Amino acid sequence: MPDRFEILHKDLAGRIGRLSTLHGTIETPALMPVVNPHLPLIPPDELEKMGADMVITNSYIIHQDPDLRIQAIERGLHDLLGFSGPIMTDSGAFQLSVYGDIDVSPLEILNFQFAIKSDIAVPLDIPTPPDVTRERAESELQITEERLVQAASLERSGLLACPIQGSTYTDLREKAARFARDLPFDVYPVGGVVPLMEAYRYRDLVDVVTSAKKGLGSGRPVHLFGAGHPMIFALAAAMGCDLFDSAAYALFARQDRYLTVHGTGKLEEMSYLPCCCPVCQEHTLKELMDSPEKTKLLARHNLYVSLQEMKQVKESIREGSLWDLLETRCRSHPRMLDGLKRLGAQSQWLESLDSAGKSTFFYLSPESASRPEVMRCARRIDRISLQGNVLITDDSQADTSGFAHVLHFKPPFGPYPPELSETYPFNAEVPEKADDAAINQAAINTEFMMRANPDARFCIRLKIGDLIK
Ligand SMILES: [Zn+2]
Repeated sequence: MPDRFEILHKDLAGRIGRLSTLHGTIETPALMPVVNPHLPLIPPDELEKMGADMVITNSYIIHQDPDLRIQAIERGLHDLLGFSGPIMTDSGAFQLSVYGDIDVSPLEILNFQFAIKSDIAVPLDIPTPPDVTRERAESELQITEERLVQAASLERSGLLACPIQGSTYTDLREKAARFARDLPFDVYPVGGVVPLMEAYRYRDLVDVVTSAKKGLGSGRPVHLFGAGHPMIFALAAAMGCDLFDSAAYALFARQDRYLTVHGTGKLEEMSYLPCCCPVCQEHTLKELMDSPEKTKLLARHNLYVSLQEMKQVKESIREGSLWDLLETRCRSHPRMLDGLKRLGAQSQWLESLDSAGKSTFFYLSPESASRPEVMRCARRIDRISLQGNVLITDDSQADTSGFAHVLHFKPPFGPYPPELSETYPFNAEVPEKADDAAINQAAINTEFMMRANPDARFCIRLKIGDLIK
C-alpha cells in the first residue's frame, strides 16, 4: 500500500517521508529504539519524551513468556509497554539466526503480532548471513519467499513488513526485492546485514542495500535491520533507508561504551564527555562512572546522540547537503570511506533519484571529486559541440580574441560554457588550490570533450598551472 508512505523531500537516494500507521504518522528517516519487554533500560514512556516517535520490540520474547503473552493479548502491545506511538515488532528471526531454531511456527508468530496490535508486523524470515554458499542463500531465500506469499494473503489491519534477504549476493538481493515489490506489503526491511556492520564491511553493505533498493524502486519505505550506530545513519539514509532500529544504545551502554557520530569510545579511556545532551551536561565523566545508574545514564546519552544524528540527517536531506554530511561522517573510519566510494561509484543510480534543488556544492575533500554531479558532467560533456578555435581558461581576464568558443574551467568539473557559471553545480565553492583528485577528474572530463570534438583546435590557458596537455 504505497499511499501509506509519502515522500516530502529528496537528496541523493535519501528522503524525508511520512509513514502512516494505526498509531499515528511518523516522519522518516526515523530511529526506533529497541525495547526489551523484560528489562527496558529506558522505560518506553521516557523514550517518547526523549524524542523517539516509534519503537520496536521482539514479539517472540513476549510470546515465549506466558505471563507477558496473556497480558499482551488482553491489553494490547501499546498498553503493555506503555508507549502510545507506533510499535514495530520483530518476529524472532534474530533468535533464529543466533540459536538456529525457535519454538514457534511462522504463521503462529505472525498471527500473534496481529493479535497484540503491532503497527508493523514482520513475517518470520530466514536471515541468511553474509558469505554463505550460493546454494544456501538461494534455498533459504526460497523458504522466505514462500512464507512471504502466505503472510501477504492474511487479513490484517496494521502494516506488514517484507524482509529482503539474499546474503552477499547482490543479484539475489535485487531479485528478492523485485519479488517483494509485487506483493502487498508496506515496509521493506533489508535483513541479515548486522554481521556486515559489526565487521565494518561498509563497502559490502552499500552493495547489498543498493541492490535491494534497485529491485524495490524508489517509492517504498525501507528499514535497515539492526542499523543502530549513529555513525552510519548518513550513509544508510543516502542509500534510501527510511527506518532504523537501535539496540546499540543499550547494548553499548552495558559495555561502558559511549556512542558518537564518529565512532565508539570506552568510558575508561575517555577524559571528557564531548556532548551537550542532558546526561553529559549534568555529569562529569567521573560522576557518570561512579553512578549506580551508570548503564541507564549511558544508554540515555547513546540514544540522545543517535536521535540527534537522525535530525541532522533530515536537515541535510531537506537542504540538499546530504553528500557534505556523508563526506564528514565517512572520514571517521577508513572503511566508512570505502563505503562512500562505493556509493559514489553508483552515481548514475543516485542521479536518477536525486532532486534537482540543491544547496551550494562545497568541495570538501577528494571524495567531492566523485560526487554524482561531477560524474554527470563527465557523462554529458561530450554533448558540447565545438568547431574552430576553442579557448579553455580559468582566467576571466583572458584575451579571447580569435576564438570561436570560450569555455571556463573549474576543477573537478573541467570545461563548461561560461553562461552556466552561476548555475548549479558550476557555481560550486571550491578551494583556491585544487587537490589532485579534482585536477584528475577535470583532466578526464576535458579529454572526453576534446575527443568528442576532433575537428576543433583547443588552446588551454590556466592560471592554476599548465596541468592539462
Ligand atoms: Zn551526551
